[in-house]
Amino acid sequence: MRDLTNDLLELIRRTSTDLPADVERALVAARQAEAEGSAARGALDTILENVALARRDSSPICQDTGTPIFTVRHPSGWSTRALREQIRKAVAEATARAYLRPNAVDSLSGKNSGNNLGDEAFPTIHFEETEGAVLTVDLMLKGGGCENVGAQYSLPHAGLGAGRDLEGVRRAALDAVHQAQGQGCAPGVLGIAIGGDRGSSFLASKEALLRPLDDINPDAALAELEARLLGEANELGIGPMGFGGQTTVLGVKARSLHRLPASFFVSVSYMCWAHRRRRMVVDGDRVRILDRSEP
Ligand code: SF4
Repeated sequence: MRDLTNDLLELIRRTSTDLPADVERALVAARQAEAEGSAARGALDTILENVALARRDSSPICQDTGTPIFTVRHPSGWSTRALREQIRKAVAEATARAYLRPNAVDSLSGKNSGNNLGDEAFPTIHFEETEGAVLTVDLMLKGGGCENVGAQYSLPHAGLGAGRDLEGVRRAALDAVHQAQGQGCAPGVLGIAIGGDRGSSFLASKEALLRPLDDINPDAALAELEARLLGEANELGIGPMGFGGQTTVLGVKARSLHRLPASFFVSVSYMCWAHRRRRMVVDGDRVRILDRSEP
């Protein structure tokens, strides 16, 4: 089994320092949509300048490099124990090289481990065995500010007038954006999961964020919901960093899960403009690191 530690280190570096092209394109379009001289356009100018500098200097796009969340899909025969060790080694080395800020804090003592290695949940690593011979590793760096404004709703919700249907989901998602009021560093992306239990629902809402911004949901009802929510969230006028303006969210990605008859959860994971996600593909001797907007 090939040792992927150095490849994983490069995956972390690229993810932390090089914003994916689809996200940058959306930020450029958002800037164009804002009035000249407005605070919103100024905020987006600063963001885009920062994105370019980070890429040029190979330095983190944001000082908060977030929670590293790895999803590994591997063919049979790979040792998940060895892969976990390689990921943890790469994370510690990436922290030493300042691609990542030390972010793993013991919740009881408040002590920072200094190398981004905490208990088994930090960094977060999910494994799934797949068919075929190709191994993929998706990495997302999920910032703390945007994680704080994620929300979960149990429908029906009397206060929102939200029932157990797509209209209820729409109301819940818009409420999450309204409550955030630009905190969590708007404009961002909404990952929405409908159904599941509380845990699987939040997990699926984060997985939805891995989709390219410009793809179209193959489920027609969800595609319609995503397009409608994108328009309506941007009509709230919250704008970049809460300064007011045309762009509060850059994209909406939704998925549905089976649920118990007794429960109907809607989970909203909010990802800030620093939407750092990349995929590493290992196919025999060939290792590629893809922008998720690439096919
Ligand atoms: S929410 Fe995102 S952009 Fe804002 S500080 Fe955190 S990581 Fe940075």
